[in-house]
Amino acid sequence: MGSGQVTDSSAPFDFRGKHVTVAGLGVSGVPAAKVLHGLGARVTVVNDGDDERARTQAAELETLGVTVRLGDGATLPEGTELIVTAPGWKPDKPLFTAAHEAGVPVWGDVELAWRLRDRDGRKAAPWLAVTGTNGKTTTVQMLASILRAAGLRTAAVGNIGVSLLDAVTGDEEYDVLAVELSSYQLHWAPSPRAHSAAVLNLAPDHLDWHGSMEAYAADKGRIYEGNRVACVFNVADKATEDLVRAADVEEGCRAVGFTLGSPAPSQLGVVEGLLVDRAFVEDRHRNAQELAEVSDVNPPAPHNIANALAAAALARSFGVSAAAVRDGLRAFTPDAHRIAHVADVDGVAYVDDSKATNTHATEASLAAYESIVWIAGGLAKGATFDELVAGAAKRLRGAVLIGADRALIREALARHAPEVPVVDLDRTDTGAMLQAVQEAQRLARPGDTVLLAPACASMDMFTNYNKRGDAFAQAVRELGA
Ligand code: ADP
Repeated sequence: MGSGQVTDSSAPFDFRGKHVTVAGLGVSGVPAAKVLHGLGARVTVVNDGDDERARTQAAELETLGVTVRLGDGATLPEGTELIVTAPGWKPDKPLFTAAHEAGVPVWGDVELAWRLRDRDGRKAAPWLAVTGTNGKTTTVQMLASILRAAGLRTAAVGNIGVSLLDAVTGDEEYDVLAVELSSYQLHWAPSPRAHSAAVLNLAPDHLDWHGSMEAYAADKGRIYEGNRVACVFNVADKATEDLVRAADVEEGCRAVGFTLGSPAPSQLGVVEGLLVDRAFVEDRHRNAQELAEVSDVNPPAPHNIANALAAAALARSFGVSAAAVRDGLRAFTPDAHRIAHVADVDGVAYVDDSKATNTHATEASLAAYESIVWIAGGLAKGATFDELVAGAAKRLRGAVLIGADRALIREALARHAPEVPVVDLDRTDTGAMLQAVQEAQRLARPGDTVLLAPACASMDMFTNYNKRGDAFAQAVRELGA
């Protein structure tokens, strides 16, 4: 971890009369266009699609005086001085090539929020930032809960709740923000400097977008650049520590690890059922501070304890007391479809982790239970399942497979867990989930957990992972009825 002269590109940017092109309508584009227009920019929005929804959004923006070009997201509008892009737009798009050739800078929504954060002479709230392949939303929500318990004015912002742009430009004032950042957002945000930041874990994901694992890691690693107080990393995931080493941070910024084992100095970890801090204490070589009990974490699954430790580390870096960490963790309830306990039926627990849409999340989920009937399948997005299945084989009572790519999981089970009974459901209609749950019930024994952790996206059978989880919960209720 080097400490160098970190340039803070936070100088107020004068948007008046500037021709700004916003790339992409939608959750980030529409608010960005409105804010930029309000700051006096001449705004053009370009959008690939030209559907009903895009037209409605375009009509609203046009009444404000924003120009909208539907069905053409490739051409750089004449006179563009800055592009503000939706984070999901791939860097190899022709629009960006044209911008590069014309020397036009490209910012994402996070870059824009950072540049706008201290307008109007208001003191800008520092950012405690979180990224990682899995656990981001849970961790920032835990963090916000802890910060609130400490009496701080805060919000969990990013892909959840309040948008980052609203948080920095709205009327509400904050002492500190708990910011979730995706790898896409980080790619398009060269300037943000967090007070402290955490990378929770790093597993291959979105590689088609980033181009390679190295590029994906480098974008994630951006979150540590310019950190002032702490770079929080996962001791069990060396790649996260490597990113800290590579980062250019402020003088005095510390590397702080979190671990499910006993913590070394400068780490947070677990000792005899307690979450313990050996980083933000006086004389960390001799002292440790108890923060909370493992049972204060909801649910106390291993990966979620890791999330709680990361949230605690960020909060402690901001000077939050041990008691507030405990109270904040106790007050936290996870979002729906993330290891949500639906019901116990005949001594079998039914758990909805529909949000486990990739193998890394599912691996964590399967590690949390002793004896599992696993409901899995959907769209594999190019994933392979051998490692996942081999690691979980001894905990599987059975498996029920659904969805388009279920054969890939069935083949992995045949290779690595040939003893495990498998039910392969060859139907994708709305009744399929009920049948899956009934088959799982048949395979389960008292004390087992029936776990929906699909390791796949849901769109082959459901609108999204929420609907898939709802269908599971509904099916479980029908069992109990
Ligand atoms: P994200 O915002 O990164 O998508 P979420 O908190 O919404 O993360 O959790 C997504 C999925 O990842 C859930 O299914 C959950 O079980 C799993 N998960 C949560 N935390 C971790 C972790 N630290 N490591 C691995 N998987 C995790």
